[in-house]
Amino acid sequence: MKVIRAADRPTKPAPAANFTGTVLQDEVVTGTLPSRLRASVVSFTPGGRTNWHTHPVGQTLFCLSGIGRVQREGEPVQALHPGDTVVIPPGVRHWHGAAPNRLFAHLAISENGPNGETTAWFEPVSDADYTAAPG
Ligand code: MN
Repeated sequence: MKVIRAADRPTKPAPAANFTGTVLQDEVVTGTLPSRLRASVVSFTPGGRTNWHTHPVGQTLFCLSGIGRVQREGEPVQALHPGDTVVIPPGVRHWHGAAPNRLFAHLAISENGPNGETTAWFEPVSDADYTAAPG
């Protein structure tokens, strides 16, 4: 076993190609085969969100702090609060991020596909979709 020290892993900006606003990532684990596990803490500043995307084996989000948003395409936006868990099925288009006026952080847990498939990224979430009142 090993202990990876927080001080040895700098926080990284989330790639601007796949996110809107200022979003920061702290890697937790990137598994080595046969593990396909990936986990990171993602911190969104107000207005920050992912682009629309899908996960090959789905994704679990565990909400850590702040107030967030999540939307499955075709369904209302939902508000997220600390302690909430979101289970996202494989191949479902969705986005997640902060509420427009609050910080938000979640633990994101997923697996690569059996042939190494990773997240499929699509277009940014429009301001109109993002600012819709949570259902
Ligand atoms: Mn996702």
